[in-house]
Parts: sequence; C-alpha cells; structure tokens
Amino acid sequence: MTRQKTYNTFSKHGDVSMRMYDIIKTKREGGQLSDAEIKFFINGFTDGTIPDYQASALLMAICINGMNDRETSVLTKAMIASGDTIDLSRFGRLSADKHSTGGVGDKTSIIVAPTVAALGGKVAKMSGRGLGHTGGTVDKLESIPGYRVSLSDDEFLSQADKVGVAIIGQTADLTPADKKLYALRDVTATIDSIPLIASSIMSKKIAAGSENIVLDVKYGSGAFMKTPEDAVLLAEKMVDIGKRFNRHTAALISDMNTPLGTEIGNSLEVKEAVGVLKGEVRNDLRDVSISLAGKMVSLIFGTSEEEGSRRAAEAIDNGSAYEKMLEWVSAQGGDISYIKDTSKFPMAKITHEIKATESGYISFTDAELIGTASTLLGAGRKNKGDPIDHSAGISMFKKRGDRVDIGDTVMLLHTNDESSLKSAEELCSGAIKYSEEVPPFVPHIYKTVE
Ligand code: URA
Repeated sequence: MTRQKTYNTFSKHGDVSMRMYDIIKTKREGGQLSDAEIKFFINGFTDGTIPDYQASALLMAICINGMNDRETSVLTKAMIASGDTIDLSRFGRLSADKHSTGGVGDKTSIIVAPTVAALGGKVAKMSGRGLGHTGGTVDKLESIPGYRVSLSDDEFLSQADKVGVAIIGQTADLTPADKKLYALRDVTATIDSIPLIASSIMSKKIAAGSENIVLDVKYGSGAFMKTPEDAVLLAEKMVDIGKRFNRHTAALISDMNTPLGTEIGNSLEVKEAVGVLKGEVRNDLRDVSISLAGKMVSLIFGTSEEEGSRRAAEAIDNGSAYEKMLEWVSAQGGDISYIKDTSKFPMAKITHEIKATESGYISFTDAELIGTASTLLGAGRKNKGDPIDHSAGISMFKKRGDRVDIGDTVMLLHTNDESSLKSAEELCSGAIKYSEEVPPFVPHIYKTVE
C-alpha cells in the first residue's frame, strides 16, 4: 500500500513529525498509541486540523482493537484538557456526583441527590438530556414549571454550598473534544467501544470536579451493555480511570432489562420520584436509589455500604430528603407547589390501555421497546433539538414477576399525539412476554465494582 501524503503535520501541537496516517495505521495493526500521539489526535480533532474522515478511521480502529488502561486514561486526560474544569475543592471530601449509563424510567438522580444532601453531601451535578430510547434528568426536571437548568458558575456553586444540591445541564465549555467526538461516533457506528464510552463518561465526570463518583452501569435490553459481564468490564474501566485521577469511584451494576419503577416519561417520572421521597412509593426505584445514595454516602463519609444505605433509607423515611428536594427545587426557580401536590402536573389528553393477552406471569418487559414507544408518544426526541411533550409516557401497572389474567391492564400509554398511538401500542404489546411459571428472581443490583 502506498503511503498517503497527509497535510496534517502540526508544529502547532508540538511535534512536526507526527502524522495522523501513522497513528491510524498503528491502531489498525493492533499497536499501542503513545501519550503524545493520543494528545496530538485530540488536540488536532478539537481545533479542526484533523478532519472527520481521519478521526473516524482511528475511532473504528479503536473499536476493533481496543485501548489499554494507559491509553484510555491518557485519552480521558486529553479530553478533559480540551475545555474548562469545575473546581469543587471548597467542598473538600463532601462533593459527590453520579452517572447512569442510561436507562428507561431511570429517575434515580432526582431521589439520590436530595437524599445525599440531606445527609451532608454536596451534589453539584451536570446532567444530560434524553438520548435515543433513554430519558435524561434535565428533560425531567424541566417539566417542573420555572426550574432553571442553566445557572451561572457562581449561582451553581453557591446553591450547592447553601442547599447541598444543584443540578444543571451540561455546559458547552466542558470537554468540547468529547462533544465533537461523540457526535462523530454517533454517525460512524463507533459508540459501542468500552474504552471510548469509559473515557467519554469519565472525562465529563472528572472535569465536573467531584471527589466522589458513583456510577450506575446498566445492563440489559434497555442499556448499552447487553450482559452483566460486559457491564462489569465497562465499570472496571471507568473505576480504574476515576482512581487514576484520585477520585473515590465506585460502580453499581444494575438491571435494565425492565424499566425502573412504574413511570416512564418526564413529568410522570418526577411524580414517581416525589412519591419515593414522600415515602408513598416503595418499589424497585426506591431500592436502587437507596443503594446508589448509600454508596455515595459510604464514599463521602468512609462508612460501609450497608451503613450508607441505612442512612439513605432513614433520610427518606424521616422526610429530610423530601424537605431537601423542596429546598433544592425552590432555590433553582421551580414551583414547589407541583412537588407538594403532584396532581398539578398536566396530564396528556389521550390515554390508551395495553391489556394482557395471556394469563400467567409477566416474564419480560423489554426496556428498549418500551423506551422507544415512550419516545414515539412524545416523551423523547426524534431529532436533536425537537421539543418534547413533558406529559407523554407510559405507566407500567404490571412488571416482571407479576401475575396477570387475560384482559388485565399491563400498561397505560399517555400522549397528546393520536397518530403515535398505533406504533407505540405495537411496540409495547411486543415488549411483553408471559410464562406459566414465576420467572426466576433477578436482583436489582448485580454487583458493586470498586
Ligand atoms: N454516554 C456518554 O456520555 N458517552 C458515551 O460514549 C456513551 C454514553
């Protein structure tokens, strides 16, 4: 093969002899990239001197041949260095963040953040919007009238200081390299790579400044990682990166074959989260939230995981986590009369029941299909920047393990767009599997990686 003459040799990035061609070739042949080569790639791609076609070729080679721990950590560092970082050192050991790799019905941040703050932690957090069939915390919080998802740096830090919780959207200045790279990965079939996912997530978490990071790594039909074993590999990589950057990092591996909780869709999910904080809802959502909050408490205060979970459950049961939510939402401009009385959230005009077509036990409710149906009903975006309908979504009355008779209502679809009903109904009906026997128990948390 003849060597392509490339124009991107850069004195700008310190090494005139380095060529993107050679970097791609090294990785294509299964070699390891040097620290300098990785920095050269990230710097050049971020400032536009390395074109998308060369970046895509390298991303595909990484997808196929992987990266070792050193390469992944250097990639993370280079992406962090591409933008601003947040200094939370004023909170000492108390700052804490969480990240979920994405799920359906996953509203745990809305419960975990005030619970940990009620126990003395400082949760200064940036969250994302919905992506594909998965929801995003920022979209959910925006269903609370008045809630401000953008704050100035000063407002963000002083709210975290005074209240203990501030949750805003991702700022443009944090890890711009990841933003650009993620957009390219999204259209070049290069998302599914453990080193690329791990460095992408951890660059944002480390740049966001918290001392303590709890990762909720999901596996199952509604998650990136389809098996618990793959989720563990991703978690190990992320925990390793966190430790290399001196952050107390732990990951819980949790089930996302089934949507979490009973509600999917933005205001529906806020209502369910408030129900957990008020002590009215006691389900898998409460259990997973207590495990995540408990892990965060154990990292912050150096307690055991069990003691962390005990304190988290107590903060919910004694009402202090709910009081903290009111304080947080109010500080961020949200109308807390909606939290006090969740029946104020507008409901969608159209509802449609999905009924059981067999008698027996529900053995599977496919989270990916249900998440996609919820998006179609208006709860998510078909294209970037589309408006969303905060009242749209799905209520799941029956889940894995529940007994049903033919004709029982399994789900209720909520929408304002009648034209979406048929496709959503097909997806939801196809998502339900039945069995004659009680299906085997699946724990919500598969294991902890730290
Ligand atoms: N979420 C991210 O932020 N990055 C990835 O690569 C995958 C999921």
